[in-house]
Amino acid sequence: MSKKMLVIAPHADDEVLGCAGAIQHYKKEGYEIFVNIVSNRILNHTIDNEHIANTKKCTEEVANLLGIKNVFHSDLNDEQLDNLLIDVIVPIEKVIDDVNPNIVFVPNITDTDQDHRSVANACLVACRSIPSLFSYEIPGPSIDFQPNYYLDIEQYFELKIAAMEKYSDEWRTFPHPRSPEGLKIVAQYRGIQSGLNYAEAYKLIKHTEKSMHK
Ligand SMILES: [Zn+2]
Repeated sequence: MSKKMLVIAPHADDEVLGCAGAIQHYKKEGYEIFVNIVSNRILNHTIDNEHIANTKKCTEEVANLLGIKNVFHSDLNDEQLDNLLIDVIVPIEKVIDDVNPNIVFVPNITDTDQDHRSVANACLVACRSIPSLFSYEIPGPSIDFQPNYYLDIEQYFELKIAAMEKYSDEWRTFPHPRSPEGLKIVAQYRGIQSGLNYAEAYKLIKHTEKSMHK
């Protein structure tokens, strides 16, 4: 039976910012990779269908570049994810049912961004039966992400930058974290914590080991 990894991303680009390295790592471990983009970005507080369609094309290019098998779009509206949690839980549960993953990566529950926090909370409910659950870091102003799990992403770092370049609208200039220099410093800082040159950091929420000795 194939092993499956799912990344749940509040916005298109969070899957790259937090998990581009993990996606490559688990692909090499033989996992099929799936991504759930929960919401569409709202520009200046209004829905712009052309921008949404363009972003979806970028997501497809990222999926091809990173070897993601399938992307599920829940098509919720950005900036409205903290209205009613059940509206976020239900579409994520549907993706969980469709994919039936072994490992799921979810946003950090203490993130300063309210959309990221809502998706993280919804994921904890929707992923209650998932054997292995990690939260990932979306670099930004959040100051209390406390990782306890690191992956060496040195060999994948250039690919992470190349994937982020597909989302050219989301790139900013340093010291914004969504800049090549910003992502490099975050990867090196997480590397300093773990004896690596470049690392992605996560928090292990839950891991279930099944017995092979029945
Ligand atoms: Zn985001």
